[in-house]
Amino acid sequence: MKKILVTGALGQIGSELTMHMRSIYGNDNVVATDIRKIEGNPTVESGPFEVLDVTNAKQMADIAKKYNVDSIIHLAALLSAVAEAKPALAWEINMGGLFNALEVARECNCAFFTPSSIAAFGPSSPRILTPQDTIQRPGTMYGVTKVSGELLCDYYFKKYGVDTRGVRFPGLISYVTPPGGGTTDYAVDIYYEALKSGKYSSFIAEGTYMDMMYMPDALNAIVKLMEADPSKLVHRNAFNITAMSFEPGQIAAEIKKHIPSFEMSYNVDPIRQAIADSWPDSIDDSAAKEEWGFETKYDLASMTTDMLAKLKEKLNVK
Ligand code: NAD
Repeated sequence: MKKILVTGALGQIGSELTMHMRSIYGNDNVVATDIRKIEGNPTVESGPFEVLDVTNAKQMADIAKKYNVDSIIHLAALLSAVAEAKPALAWEINMGGLFNALEVARECNCAFFTPSSIAAFGPSSPRILTPQDTIQRPGTMYGVTKVSGELLCDYYFKKYGVDTRGVRFPGLISYVTPPGGGTTDYAVDIYYEALKSGKYSSFIAEGTYMDMMYMPDALNAIVKLMEADPSKLVHRNAFNITAMSFEPGQIAAEIKKHIPSFEMSYNVDPIRQAIADSWPDSIDDSAAKEEWGFETKYDLASMTTDMLAKLKEKLNVK
């Protein structure tokens, strides 16, 4: 990667990934785009930024050509809970946007990355250590767009030779930009509320296991996969990756080690709970480890220590 275009760059992943890649490849070599512009935001201010709606194919192609990019990191999408509330719009953005981005990659000869998700699995997939290659019949619109996206990226590689790559991210936990309406968002909200009010009411039920990862590990994974030797990649577009699997009671117990008075209660949201119940408890990431050396640094304990320290500073909590 030398000159990189990022879509959805002001979201939870994009805002940190853009800064991370600018520190590696140079500020001017990472072109951030999003449908909205936030004046004063570091992603907008520290390098090139363009307003881009990914459903507008011509606008995307014009920007790619203007900057002569050789890589596209396509992040713009609606997340699971939002997609379930607006399924038609989710199809338009998640599939229409992906199709446009793949066409630009084909036309401009770009390497291409887009994330899939643990949402690409469904109730008939094996729940524990879900294999890399297995049954994928998700029942959510988000999951439908993710499986279709995996297939479309495979198609562009096989049919046109576009260098497409991708991972199935678990829930991502970070302190910089709030998450955009996913089912695993509780595992971010809980840290904010622990520091602000000392208690948290979880919308996900006790005992519901889901895979998670701390953002620094996710950023490293994207760069590592994009820089990996293509001859070693068998799967390319949908590598299972994970760092930890926990249920709400376990993250609460970990927070209690730092804030002993922290109190957890439950007010389960049936829509997000149903989505969580259809996802794996844990996934098997051995293909990513074997094919491109995927690795993580953070587990639940070290992530919690870091999240609380960083958020204390951000929220100015003593
Ligand atoms: P987010 O919701 O935080 O950010 C998405 C960004 O896309 C937003 O800044 C939004 O303004 C922008 N956007 C929305 N519609 C657009 C459009 N039409 N044109 C251009 N930009 C548009 O999402 P995120 O968490 O950063 O996720 C990025 C990608 O990673 C998505 O494909 C998502 O499915 C995937 N993913 C995320 C997670 C997670 O936990 N964050 C987990 C698995 C997969």
